[in-house]
Amino acid sequence: MTSSNCDILIQGGGPVGLACAAWILQKFPEANITLLDRNSVNDDDLAQADSRGIALSHGSKLLLDTIHAWPKESAPIHRVHVSQAGRFGRALMTREELNQDALGHIIRYRDIHLTLRKALRALQTKSPNFTWEQIQNDAEESQIHAKCIVHAEGGLFKKQDWVESGRDYGQSALVGLVEVEKAEPHQAWERFTAEGPLAVLPSHYGANVLNLVWCGSPESSQHRLQLADAEFLHELQNEFGSRIGRFQKIQDRRLYELGLNYRKEITKDNEVWIGNAAQTLHPVAGQGLNLGLRDAFLLAEKLVGVFSGPRENQSPTDVQNALQEYAQSRKADRATTIGLTDFMARIFTSNLAPIVMARGLALSALQWLPPVKTALARQMMFGRR
Ligand SMILES: Cc1cc2nc3c(=O)[nH]c(=O)nc-3n(C[C@H](O)[C@H](O)[C@H](O)COP(=O)(O)OP(=O)(O)OC[C@H]3O[C@@H](n4cnc5c(N)ncnc54)[C@H](O)[C@@H]3O)c2cc1C
Repeated sequence: MTSSNCDILIQGGGPVGLACAAWILQKFPEANITLLDRNSVNDDDLAQADSRGIALSHGSKLLLDTIHAWPKESAPIHRVHVSQAGRFGRALMTREELNQDALGHIIRYRDIHLTLRKALRALQTKSPNFTWEQIQNDAEESQIHAKCIVHAEGGLFKKQDWVESGRDYGQSALVGLVEVEKAEPHQAWERFTAEGPLAVLPSHYGANVLNLVWCGSPESSQHRLQLADAEFLHELQNEFGSRIGRFQKIQDRRLYELGLNYRKEITKDNEVWIGNAAQTLHPVAGQGLNLGLRDAFLLAEKLVGVFSGPRENQSPTDVQNALQEYAQSRKADRATTIGLTDFMARIFTSNLAPIVMARGLALSALQWLPPVKTALARQMMFGRR
């Protein structure tokens, strides 16, 4: 461990930690930052890592473009079709209604991760006080003294070493890459089944190769993980129906446990938590990373404000005040995104007859009340400002 003092210590080199470092350095290349990363320094080791498809909003694209960190391999979504398996109620959202080039983009987690690493390396060449180190354990972290500590350790539900407020939905997501007969290009499908949401999303591999996110009980998800390919495809076809023809091939199946875990307070003294280290969400609304990138961007602005100014304005109280202002500025967006995601995760996993009925009505209302649909889509694309 070389550096033992710095202004800003960022713990965690996932997408959110990397993006935060990049936004700080882009605005203030002299920033004295240490980034501690559990990941290998070598990108090759990450190339086979997490390949799940992540939906990034147009708002996230605009943010990532500012640091040249938009992955080349992405699949735009032009339409989203939402329906309930075997029940009434459906809604269609299109990019034309919202006057946007795309409603969102599907990108593999590892491509987001690798592109951000590349963008940060490019900034590193012009940043004399930036240190990026790989660490193996917590003992190495404790040797560093920083004026401000940014926690971006992320993590998945049930794999985190902290549990605060939240909910266990008793659900897992089975993800994979599925090949179908005749998909509509650039169309995403979200179908609510008796066990939970089943999403079939575009991929950059071609119109008929789609990202699957199939939420169900941990037991059935585990069972589906172990099924032979042909049986798996048969079950999937039964749940999804025939709208995109026959499901022909499945690859790269993985399971993730799902739940909500969030901190009520995201700052304490000189420490601040962002991304999944602050809130871990159900993927039903595709909001976790989008919200985390907004955290990182706004925190970077705040920290540049403090550390690019005179040294006498960087006392522990100044840092603490800046973090409190940051926390205040994130309140509305966090509350709305966490609340909306939790609501959707619960309402779309319930089989109680009145809720099934209300769900059908809500989908129909979305379809027939364009202002409601536009407001919801805008929240998903840009968050609450
Ligand atoms: C099935 C599934 C589908 C999803 N789909 C979407 C979607 O469509 N849209 C969306 O916006 N979000 C989605 N998400 C959520 C998204 O994956 C997360 O919100 C996002 O990965 C959070 O990024 P992060 O950098 O905060 O954390 P992470 O991605 O967890 O990265 C944290 C990094 O920190 C490192 N680390 C951990 N501890 C330490 C330490 N002590 N010191 C140093 N480094 C450390 C880890 O190695 C890791 O690389 C989905 C999640 C799941 C599970």
